[in-house]
Amino acid sequence: MPDILTSRFLFGPGPSNCYPEVTAALAYPVIGHLDPVFIERLENTCAGLRTVWGTSNARTLPLSATGSGGMEAAFVNTVADGDVAVIAVNGLFGERMCEVARRCGATVVRVDHDWGQPIDVERVLAAHPQPKVIAAVHAETSTGVLSDIASLGQNKGDALLIVDAVTSIGGLEVTADDWGIDVGYACTQKCLGVPPGLSPFTVSARAFERRIKDPRSWYLDIGLLGGYVGAVGGSGRTYHHTAPVSMIAGLEAGLHRILAEGLAAVQARHRAAAAALQAGLQEMGLELFAAEGHRLPSLTTVKVPDGVDSAAVRRYLLEYFSIEIGAGAGFYASSLWRIGMMGPNANAASVTLVLGALKEAIASA
Ligand code: PLP
Repeated sequence: MPDILTSRFLFGPGPSNCYPEVTAALAYPVIGHLDPVFIERLENTCAGLRTVWGTSNARTLPLSATGSGGMEAAFVNTVADGDVAVIAVNGLFGERMCEVARRCGATVVRVDHDWGQPIDVERVLAAHPQPKVIAAVHAETSTGVLSDIASLGQNKGDALLIVDAVTSIGGLEVTADDWGIDVGYACTQKCLGVPPGLSPFTVSARAFERRIKDPRSWYLDIGLLGGYVGAVGGSGRTYHHTAPVSMIAGLEAGLHRILAEGLAAVQARHRAAAAALQAGLQEMGLELFAAEGHRLPSLTTVKVPDGVDSAAVRRYLLEYFSIEIGAGAGFYASSLWRIGMMGPNANAASVTLVLGALKEAIASA
């Protein structure tokens, strides 16, 4: 395998490059998953996750799963046969939520939106008089759109609110407690600057109380996972599954890095990079896809200009600059590019690099 593969600039929808502290921590010697050193590492990780989630939920942990595993865990623990799940769909990941909820037995009430638009909170709330859960994606990676979760949470009534924060956690504001999020899941590979493989997960006391008591998944049963989180509930740690010790060392280091810089400063860095990128793209004559006023700071969607071969541009960027950007998702596969500025990549130098390289690639590819 050529060495170049170790030095890509990852500006796609994910994974992003890792913070250097994370790369160092991934090389720590492997230790036992019940070693006191690891237990302390896990405690630090759960504490750091509470901060980036904006929650005091005791049940906040790194699930041994990717973001999709977090999605499965959210639904399998909250809905079973016939339970009504109202799901806002404004992109690929809202669609995935519908499929996951259906497989858990839920009666899915799907509220569709045009791709590129944020969710319409009133329409979502009006979709059913008494849903068991309402679910939405905070930052839709397929379209580059940010939706208003706070308004959804304020008006959710008796329903449990499930939120996908995969492309916001660690880079954009997420305040689970203030917003009324009952079950939140995320991933490590985007704004947290950690490799893929874990799903930061949080469950409110209210959702834990109302969880499905014998869910169709043993592995993702949040009732059983209490032992994995250990000190929570004062019951001590029991074996549930062998924790991915190296991944958790990486996540602990990533969270430490972010909190040392300051969460507000990290969020400001993401916003500044996005503003510069989006302005620069428009100065180049390119058109942005996501609705103005609702554009994600972590991921920008750009329309591929007429007559330009989207795949050829992406190949050029990879070959001559070692830069990865993403193609569009679903119907927009060849008509959009998706450019991520996440984690360590959210900075002014990245913006200059991407804009310059993209200009050359469009002219040459
Ligand atoms: N939700 C959103 C918004 C995503 O962007 C992704 C992946 O990009 C997922 C869920 C699924 O996460 P994973 O690919 O880590 O399983």
